[in-house]
Amino acid sequence: MSKSALSTYTPARNQLPQPSQRAALLRALWVLPLLLSLGFVGVVMVLLERSDATDRDILQQTMIADALSLEVQLRTRLESENEQLQLLASSVAAATMTPDSFAVNKDVTAGLQRFWQSISWLDAQNRVVAHLPPQAEKPMLNPKGLAKGLQPNNLESRGLSSHLLAPLNATRAGGNLIVRYSPAALLQQQTPWWLARKYELRLLDSSDQEIASTRDTVGGTFPVGTLTNTVRPRYRLSFETAIPDAFLELTVRQPLPPWYQALPLLLMAGFLLLIVIATWMLRRQMREVAHAESAWRTEAAWRSAMEDSVVVGLRARDLEGRMVYVNRTLEEMVGWSSSELVGSLPPMPYWPPNEMEETMQRHLRNMAGGAPREGYQANWRHRDGRNLVVMIFETPLVDASGKQIGWMGSILDITERRQLEEREQQRIQTMQYHARLTMLGEVASTLAHELNQPLMAISSYNAGVINTLKRNGFDDAVVLAALERLGQQSANAGRIVQRIRAFLTRRTPQRESVNLAEVISAAEVLLKREMQDKKISLQIALPAALPPLNIDAVLIEQVIINLLRNAADAFMAESLDKRIALEVSVVAPQWVRIAVSDNGPGLDGRTLEQLAAPFYSTKAEGMGMGLAICRSIIEAHGGAFEAADVLKSFANTGAKFSFSLPVASDIEAAEEI
Ligand code: ADP
Repeated sequence: MSKSALSTYTPARNQLPQPSQRAALLRALWVLPLLLSLGFVGVVMVLLERSDATDRDILQQTMIADALSLEVQLRTRLESENEQLQLLASSVAAATMTPDSFAVNKDVTAGLQRFWQSISWLDAQNRVVAHLPPQAEKPMLNPKGLAKGLQPNNLESRGLSSHLLAPLNATRAGGNLIVRYSPAALLQQQTPWWLARKYELRLLDSSDQEIASTRDTVGGTFPVGTLTNTVRPRYRLSFETAIPDAFLELTVRQPLPPWYQALPLLLMAGFLLLIVIATWMLRRQMREVAHAESAWRTEAAWRSAMEDSVVVGLRARDLEGRMVYVNRTLEEMVGWSSSELVGSLPPMPYWPPNEMEETMQRHLRNMAGGAPREGYQANWRHRDGRNLVVMIFETPLVDASGKQIGWMGSILDITERRQLEEREQQRIQTMQYHARLTMLGEVASTLAHELNQPLMAISSYNAGVINTLKRNGFDDAVVLAALERLGQQSANAGRIVQRIRAFLTRRTPQRESVNLAEVISAAEVLLKREMQDKKISLQIALPAALPPLNIDAVLIEQVIINLLRNAADAFMAESLDKRIALEVSVVAPQWVRIAVSDNGPGLDGRTLEQLAAPFYSTKAEGMGMGLAICRSIIEAHGGAFEAADVLKSFANTGAKFSFSLPVASDIEAAEEI
């Protein structure tokens, strides 16, 4: 599982947007598609309307052009008929024409074959001379009206009739030729088929009375008013030049469907409906999401509050060991914030620098699933440099499908508990030390008291011998010097016994500023002869700069002497290579360490507790008090006394006794123990 997948499992506390912002965002979002769709539909409607207007304009212009051209055609036709009638009138006026010859005249028959309904020859008294065709009804005419040109005077089944008039000249003593024709037939004959299919044509008089119409003559008619909400553009122009008071009217047969009746409108309506439904569903969905989010937020707040209130540090890591979550307790425990820790891979910033190697090993073991079930103890370091002791319990972190996606660790800070335990341990040790000291003090006090008597006796006997010899005139300088030395040494022995006794009863060393090198040198001088006799090589290594120690020089010298002598005693007499090394080192600014190593038989598994027990000795004449007193002296100085088998670097076998002494600044603190 990747980091991102796991981080959805445990979101960081501050990643969530504020609820109010989120809700406002949701509210605004759901209505957006609807608004966009409405905008889109509005734009499409405006575009359609504009396109419709353009179409109407074009239609209007085409209609005007068509009407003008038709008017010209009709007018030309009527003018041409009129001219022919005038020609006929002049031939009738030639006086050779009789009514019989008139009836067979080719111009007359041709005219009747065109669209003349009838032709009448009237004399000057308006009496009919000839009328063709013969069955046609005789007209009742008003010559004045006829003189004007055309007058509707008869209503026929297919519209009104009109007339053409041609006056006969004077040779016939006046008279007229009158042609009756049907404007409807004229329209029919003169209108091109495509125009007739496209338009409904009408001739109207000034009172809107229909003179002629093509309404029923062409298939695919479209009665006006049969469809509501349709626009049938029509155009009317004056036809006066051909027929007085007449108008020519064109009406489009196929009405132009308005834009809002077109298919796009249907599509848009469907689209809008779908959008409204989709918006409603979206809104419902968003409400559900908002509810779910609110529930999740409450749960997250609960969980976060719980995680932050527990005293146990919690951390989640993915399978690679990358930190994906830490709770507040852990942040406070280590001093690193969640944002600094989340996403980081080991080594972690709270690992102690001096334990990097082993901590990494432990981490790899845990990642491999080898973390102990009962938990394990680890050392961490707080950001401020404080050392922490923690108890860690690792458990597998699984997702909803049960697949392991990482590790969840619970961490308990047991630093304080450990410190308490250590303090308790120290307290017990101190009590043991005091108990040991009390017992030692009593034993040694008795011993010192016992030794004091013989030492005093040696001193006084020695003084008596010297005085007696001097009184008797004995002046051998060598003997007297030896006796003097004897006295000094017994006094010295007495002083040592007194000091040790004083220490064991008072339990405090008499400290002064001491150069350790001088103390060691004094011990070396004292043991030189003994070492030489036993063929032991003593190597002393001192550091270049040794700080002065505030110690009881007499007691520390005794410790050093005791350790050197013990080492010397440990050698087998027959052994050829006998070496003792005394090393001094400054282990810390406040601590100096003195170690005495030998290549003797070693401790053979015996612990310091056993060796330093009062009266424990493996020597025939040993008292078994040396190490016990040494340890008490060192502990009284605040130092630590240790014994171990020697390391291979010095010899294959051997023992190493070492002790530490604090330098001046730490002495006061050590005294409090
Ligand atoms: P003593 O010297 O009187 O025996 P100590 O308390 O000084 O008493 O020593 C106790 C015992 O510790 C010795 O008897 C000896 O067995 C053991 N010991 C001390 N120092 C050494 C050493 N350097 N190597 C081996 N054993 C030692």
